[in-house]
Amino acid sequence: MLSATVRRLLTARENKFMIPADVVANVQESNNLEHALLVLTKIGYAKIPVLDSDGRFKGLLSLPMITNQMLGLDGIDTSVLGTMTVRDVMERDVATIKAPYDVEEVLRLLIDRNFLVVVDEKNHFMGIVTRREVMKSVNYMVHTLGEQYSLTPKGK
Ligand code: AMP
Repeated sequence: MLSATVRRLLTARENKFMIPADVVANVQESNNLEHALLVLTKIGYAKIPVLDSDGRFKGLLSLPMITNQMLGLDGIDTSVLGTMTVRDVMERDVATIKAPYDVEEVLRLLIDRNFLVVVDEKNHFMGIVTRREVMKSVNYMVHTLGEQYSLTPKGK
């Protein structure tokens, strides 16, 4: 369990955790793989959110999810790019978080992921919390603890 001081320092920049939806690249679940391949290649991010036409979060898409479909026995088959859609290949059952964040849960989930998807009660996509933004808060916390607090081991 986090101490109250650690929790307070970690959440001091909490309002900066989230990159809002309007600046997060995404694809629609109904987009074909050709479109998705172009988007992923152009933006240079490894994985991006997939939304439906109402802005609800549906899953995540990465380049290997697309290129795996193109691997045939005789080489690369690009025809699947026009016939398959994002919903056919995306990762489903993705862990999401809601504001206000449980900072312990955010830290635990970010051990295995580069970013977390933030949704509202109706599963509308609100933005992402990246490991990078949270690491800035961890950095702030460890420096502030060292500069402004004296730490003594328990029992001394
Ligand atoms: P970062 O910690 O900034 O390197 O971001 C971690 C991951 O979050 C990236 O590899 C992307 O998968 C995702 N990401 C970060 N920023 C964006 C963005 N503006 N649009 C889409 N995905 C993003």
